[in-house]
Amino acid sequence: MKFDINWFESRVSLTPNKIAIIDSDTNDSWTYAELHRRVTIVGNYFYSKGIRKGDRVAILAPNHISFFDFFFAAMKIGAIFIPLNWRLADAELEYVIKDCNPKMIGIDPLFVDKIKSIDTISDLVIIDHNDYLNDLHSEPFTIETQLKEEDPLAMIYTGGTTGRPKGAVLSHRSILWNALNTTISWNLDQDDTTLTCLPMFHTGGLNVYSLPLLLVGGKVVLSSEFVPNKAVEDLITYKCTVVLFVPTMYHMIIQTDLFKQSSFPDMKVFVSGGAPCPLKIYHAFSEKGLAFKEGYGLTEAGPNNFYIDSKDTISKPGSVGKAMIFNDIQIIGEDGLMVDPGEVGELLTRGNHAFEYYWNKPDETKETIKDGWIHTGDLARKDEEGFVYIVGRKKDMIITGGENVYPLEVEQWIESHQAVDEAAVIGLPDEKWGEIVVAFVVTKIEITPKELELHCSKKITRYKVPKKFIVIEELPKTHVGKINKTALKEKFSNAKD
Ligand code: ATP
Repeated sequence: MKFDINWFESRVSLTPNKIAIIDSDTNDSWTYAELHRRVTIVGNYFYSKGIRKGDRVAILAPNHISFFDFFFAAMKIGAIFIPLNWRLADAELEYVIKDCNPKMIGIDPLFVDKIKSIDTISDLVIIDHNDYLNDLHSEPFTIETQLKEEDPLAMIYTGGTTGRPKGAVLSHRSILWNALNTTISWNLDQDDTTLTCLPMFHTGGLNVYSLPLLLVGGKVVLSSEFVPNKAVEDLITYKCTVVLFVPTMYHMIIQTDLFKQSSFPDMKVFVSGGAPCPLKIYHAFSEKGLAFKEGYGLTEAGPNNFYIDSKDTISKPGSVGKAMIFNDIQIIGEDGLMVDPGEVGELLTRGNHAFEYYWNKPDETKETIKDGWIHTGDLARKDEEGFVYIVGRKKDMIITGGENVYPLEVEQWIESHQAVDEAAVIGLPDEKWGEIVVAFVVTKIEITPKELELHCSKKITRYKVPKKFIVIEELPKTHVGKINKTALKEKFSNAKD
């Protein structure tokens, strides 16, 4: 099979005059040919600075065209592109930078102070405006190195929800196959436009829609930050057809007046991913007759894994769908065998979209990739028709008095109460029960723990009903807006008393 490593060159030659990127902050736009010109300048510059195959080039900036300048320039040379998370605290960022040790960092002036104490950094490119590359002077170069499909192209640090972020190494093959699989399974074409305001240091911003759309000749509208009203405005102004937000963003979007007033005639589908999506968000979209899909993914696996048809989302709310055409998935029990429909087990995925390894972490790599399967650490079940439902993270499962409790089921039921805004359920150690179920609840209007307990007892089995409901102002969230259960556990480890 022909494997076109530099598919960007082929794409440019097919649709040179089509708009590829729009910056929604400045309204600047670039065709594929103009993007190519930028990539050539940056690639030449990298080469002149001694960057070669396998070297790391990083970027520390809000969403911006420079991400694609750097990404495709790295693709050409065989360097490894690393988008850095600017939301990390300085010490965390230092850990990540020392871990991946980039030869060059493209940096927004906003963040220069964050890294000034790190002595290992060699070269900086200051990205202070869209034409920052006018200052990069160099001569054209000829590539001598042959690239193979398994060579690393990008390294994306995981969300750090369960510990320190891990650098997942994605090869040319994995990025291309994620993009191919997504365009085929999600029916993307040249007429599609997405809005990317999820940070591109996260796989969601880069690989869910941005790169798949650049493969098929679509359009990517970039926004440097997420402001709910502006995001809705951008979707309308730029006639976006597809978009990914995480549930926390949807939570804010559905409360805006503009969302309530708009009919989004150009939108084919809204996708949620990265964390469980509360059913009330589904309903806010289906009530308006809008297609809404829950996607599931992880940095190590593309991230896209599942396909669900818009009409199925109505009959299967909460399902992430069936495996995409070039992915295999399996759900296995403790004995390593596949579980029956309806039973919960660990979700495994394999295919060309899979990552290669964790940077500097051979033990974690061995724990995650076994016999070619990625062990996701997530629990799931399939229904009789093969639709998959994510039940939660394995690490979050609670065992109380010998019974398994999946927090997501309890959270969804608590959140179905009209007084509740958000809920998080965790297990806390208990002498008698091993663990007890404890719920943290953010409320819209006042409600007593007794009322919440009563509401839960109507729907869920007794042992699943939280022994304690704690009303709090706000749930702790990670840098990408996921509920941070580790922080919750640490903060409230004595809450059962
Ligand atoms: P770390 O691996 O560093 O702890 P992380 O798991 O948050 O961080 P990501 O790759 O950003 O890293 O996120 C992938 C995880 O997000 C999945 O393993 C899963 O737990 C969760 N997730 C993604 N989509 C969904 C979904 N639709 N429903 C429930 N959970 C989801």
